Amino acid sequence: MRNNGLVVAIDGPSGAGKSTAGRALAERLGYTYIDTGAMYRALTQAALAAGVAPDDEATLTELLQPARLELQSAKGEVTVFWNGKDVSLAIRTPEVDAAVSQVSSHPAVRAEMVARQQVMGRQGGVVMEGRDIGSVVFPLATAKIFLSASLDARVERRHRQYQQRGVEVPREELHKDLGERDRKDSSRKTSPLAISPDAIVIDSSDLNLEQQNAACARAC
Ligand code: C5P
Repeated sequence: MRNNGLVVAIDGPSGAGKSTAGRALAERLGYTYIDTGAMYRALTQAALAAGVAPDDEATLTELLQPARLELQSAKGEVTVFWNGKDVSLAIRTPEVDAAVSQVSSHPAVRAEMVARQQVMGRQGGVVMEGRDIGSVVFPLATAKIFLSASLDARVERRHRQYQQRGVEVPREELHKDLGERDRKDSSRKTSPLAISPDAIVIDSSDLNLEQQNAACARAC
C-alpha cells in the first residue's frame, strides 16, 4: 500500500455526498473509486430477488460467498455486476434502501465484504467510500474523511437523485428511511458508523458541489 499508492477513506451517513466527493477525488488523483455501499446493496438486491429474508444471516452468507461481485468505475459512473449481471439500477430502489441496513448488520456478511474490500484496495491508489473504511477496512488509510450533513440536507439530495431518474419518492418517506438507516448503521454491534479519531470531519450541509470537492481535496 505504501509503495504503490495511497488509500483515501471516506465515511459518513447516507446522502452526505460521499459518492460525488469520492468520484471527484478519484478523478483528480487518478485513483480507482470503490463504493462499498454498492456491494452491500448488490447482496441485498440478490437476497430480495431470491426470497432470502434480510435477517437470515446464514443464507445471506451462503448467497454471498460464491458470488462474483464486481465494480467498474469509468468516467464518473460506477457499474455494479452481481454474477456477471449489471445490477447498477436495481440496487438503488426504495426496497433495497429499506432492507440494506439489516443485511449489512450481520458479522459474517461484513467479514466477507471487508475481506473483499481489503483485496480490492491492497495495491493502493484507491478512494474507498463507506461506513467503516477508516475504522475497520483500512485503519492505516493515508487520508480519512468523515463527510456528514444534516438529515434535511440529505433528504433533499436523495429526493433530487430519485427525481433525476424519474422516480417520485415522497420526502417524508426519505426522511424516515435515512433516519432509520442512520440509527441502525450507528447502533449495530459490528463496526458501527462512527467518526475515527484521526478523521477530518467535513459538514457538507451548506456547501455546494464545488466547495464540497475542494474541502475533500484540501483534507487529502
Ligand atoms: O452508501 P450507501 O447508502 O449506498 O450504503 C447502503 C448501506 O450499506 C448503508 O446504509 C449501510 O447499512 C451499508 N454499508 C455498510 N458499510 C459500508 C458501506 C455501506 O454497512 N462500508
